[in-house]
Amino acid sequence: MTGIDDILNRGERTNAHAHTTKLNGSPVQSENHSVTSGQQGPVILNDIHLIEKLAAFNRQVVPDRIPHAKGLGAFGELHITEDVSAYTKASLFQKGTVTPMAARFSTVAGESGSPDTWRDVHGFALRFWTQEGNYDIVGNNTPVFFMRDSVKFPDFIQSQKRHPATGLRSADMQWDFWTRTPESAHQVTYLMGGRGTPRSAREMNGYGSHTFQWINAEGEAFWVKYHFISEQGVHNLTQDEATKAAGETPDLHRQDLYEAIERGDFPRWSVEVQIMPLDEAETYRFNPFDLTKVWSKKDYPRKKIGYFELNRNPVNFHAQIEQIALDPSNLVPGVGFSPDKMLQGRIFAYSDQQRYRIGPNYRQLPINQPVNGDVNTYSQNGPMAYQFNENGSLPYSPNKTNKGAGVLDSGETSDHSAEHPVVDDAMVGNDQHGNQLYRGQYVQHAEDDNFIQATILYRDVMNDEEKEELANNIAGAMDGVKPETEQRCYEYWTNVHPDLGARVKEIFTSSK
Ligand code: NDP
Repeated sequence: MTGIDDILNRGERTNAHAHTTKLNGSPVQSENHSVTSGQQGPVILNDIHLIEKLAAFNRQVVPDRIPHAKGLGAFGELHITEDVSAYTKASLFQKGTVTPMAARFSTVAGESGSPDTWRDVHGFALRFWTQEGNYDIVGNNTPVFFMRDSVKFPDFIQSQKRHPATGLRSADMQWDFWTRTPESAHQVTYLMGGRGTPRSAREMNGYGSHTFQWINAEGEAFWVKYHFISEQGVHNLTQDEATKAAGETPDLHRQDLYEAIERGDFPRWSVEVQIMPLDEAETYRFNPFDLTKVWSKKDYPRKKIGYFELNRNPVNFHAQIEQIALDPSNLVPGVGFSPDKMLQGRIFAYSDQQRYRIGPNYRQLPINQPVNGDVNTYSQNGPMAYQFNENGSLPYSPNKTNKGAGVLDSGETSDHSAEHPVVDDAMVGNDQHGNQLYRGQYVQHAEDDNFIQATILYRDVMNDEEKEELANNIAGAMDGVKPETEQRCYEYWTNVHPDLGARVKEIFTSSK
């Protein structure tokens, strides 16, 4: 099984050459002197190494994440110690399972070089490389948020970032937004308290924050909230300590976590959940999908299900922390979403951000690849694509081979009905009333049939001349089809009208 070391070593160069190389692999003649036109002359363009080196230098950064730009992270394992199979079938949550994982901690408003101890909510984002694909829980060190609808999220972040005219952060913008957004009161209370200035990432709790769904093997669904309780305890800085640290040790959290892991002092978090039966969501005293609210622990006590430990530092910060694409839409069977309007927005926004920052093939980077075998997909090509499906596979569904990219539903719809199989898709989840969300065909009306209107067009509208032209055009367009596809074409056109099927066959076979 792929462990965290395998994941961290993916992409590492062996540096087998005795000398440095240009990017094409050929030897570099000098890292000290560029090529000049004579000893005192100017540098010339055929110094390819110089050009490559300057060009690479100019392109070292990818755009910051807009929120959560300043981050730190480490790797380790999730251990599940309790049986929660009654609530979820997700493989990573089965008792005894150990799953390699990443954690990225961050501040929200500052840029990538900003101090770790500026007062802020802190990101607490986890990636689990499970046997059913990557599962990410992308939360914070607070169980709530400033708003309950993602349509307000850009407004909020823009109020916390820099003033358009001055380029300065602005208390006036921050308080202007907060005081005009009363739903922020719970989170601002949290932020202005001690937990707005944690002493280290090791000493803060994490929360999935949103309400999620768990689905068991019988298809029963439950609402769930994740809590990650620091076994180091929660310890915060006073405002004065945080201000001092911002000047003296702006990378305090990054340094603290790195050094703790280097000395073998591995931080752990207890993994706990609150579980709510589906129907109780209707009547609970707080709206359980509202991200500005918690579920009281008196009503829904936390159950410990295991723990995680961080015990490996990144081998390369850029490749493994800067480019790790943590994303709440990374789900696995046995977990699902809820109607939380903040979560719904984030399902789109996070992957979109990575498409912009890193490029549309960001999931092909070693740190973002799953460990349960190669991705099997019809999506293809694009900038920096280096994975491709096996030779002989076809890039669309449905197709005759299903090679390289089969799907759970066949997609085959060649008969008279418009029927399309409805897939038992637990990952689509249930709505707030417990109804399974729907993936399947339209409501069928009396005359809904795939061929009926093509039949009417052929039979009742076209005159004989047009019918003959149609048959000729079809037969001509079939030039080059393989025998199996040829037979499918005859069936297809026979379904439109037997005369048409017969005429197409006649013209095509006589042309061969
Ligand atoms: P409880 O008394 O059962 O829980 C209170 C919780 O508050 C504690 O367990 C701790 O959560 C957290 N807490 C303690 N000190 C602070 C602090 N200085 N700043 C922020 N949080 C702190 O009550 P309820 O579950 O009914 O919740 C009451 C309030 O507690 C909520 O309104 C919320 O503000 C806060 N809270 C609740 C959480 C929940 O999920 N129910 C989680 C965190 C805070 P922890 O053990 O997670 O550190």
